[in-house]
Amino acid sequence: MKITCENGHCFERISSCRVCPICAASAHKDYEFLLQFSAPAQRALFQHKITSLEDIQKNNLEDLSKLHGIGKSTINKIKQLLN
Ligand SMILES: [Zn+2]
Repeated sequence: MKITCENGHCFERISSCRVCPICAASAHKDYEFLLQFSAPAQRALFQHKITSLEDIQKNNLEDLSKLHGIGKSTINKIKQLLN
């Protein structure tokens, strides 16, 4: 039985699990990006749906630095990534 997930991926349903393997893999990739930050920063970024460098570029650093959990070291890390 073929299933199309909410993001438009087509996949074969093998078990009763409805999790799309493509979405699951990309969620894992997002998580890997966040791993370079401290735990509070990871939560803050994830809550604001910032899970990639592109997402960070859509926001300005001043706004990001106001988020709860984003400290000076995280902002420095982000600046390094953007260079
Ligand atoms: Zn999917």
